[in-house]
Amino acid sequence: MHNKAIKQYLECLKLSGIQDIFVKPPIQINKAELLKELEENYHTCTKCALHSGRNKFCYGNGNPDARLLIIGEGPGADEDRIGKVFVGRSGQLLTKMLSAINLSRDEVYITNIVKCRPPGNRNPLPEEKKACLPYLEEQISIIQPEFILMLGKVAAVTLLEIDQTLTAFRQQIYNFRGIKTYVSYHPSALLRNPSWKKLAWIDLQKLQKDYF
Ligand code: SF4
Repeated sequence: MHNKAIKQYLECLKLSGIQDIFVKPPIQINKAELLKELEENYHTCTKCALHSGRNKFCYGNGNPDARLLIIGEGPGADEDRIGKVFVGRSGQLLTKMLSAINLSRDEVYITNIVKCRPPGNRNPLPEEKKACLPYLEEQISIIQPEFILMLGKVAAVTLLEIDQTLTAFRQQIYNFRGIKTYVSYHPSALLRNPSWKKLAWIDLQKLQKDYF
């Protein structure tokens, strides 16, 4: 409502005998506290079979006020042992990739499609992804990032609901729930095939151009 319209509305209220109105301040949420509380609530989750092999629940970590949310596939062995995402060799590579575009781990929030480790690092099954996705949806709506970077085909297929190759995914920037979204290689794929790093660099530069 414009100022003039608000003024007229208040005048009308005054004429009808209403002298005082109370304006409720907008609700401020503490994202860090809320995410911490939700992590504590969910860490004993048994909604899918992955809970049975779990050592540690890996909810996500980083900056709750991040402009960039990074989404991978699922925790690996190191993550399962420690309870944090992207802490192993893949995590170290991700840190370097971010640093190459002038971003630090403290500036971004990182999580996965599933929060418990699939045995032998296999892809999460459809029923496991379905059971776990509400936790990610909730994280997205709390963090409200400006940008999302999906790492690997599993994250992209699951969230964008398009079944195509990673090469095809990388050709486009997506609008995922109003958020500018990029798709690139998962760092573990880059560790297996270092020749793809130059392609990942092209993807990261697109993100960097929009972010800064
Ligand atoms: S993967 Fe997700 S849904 Fe399955 S047990 Fe772990 S937290 Fe629960």
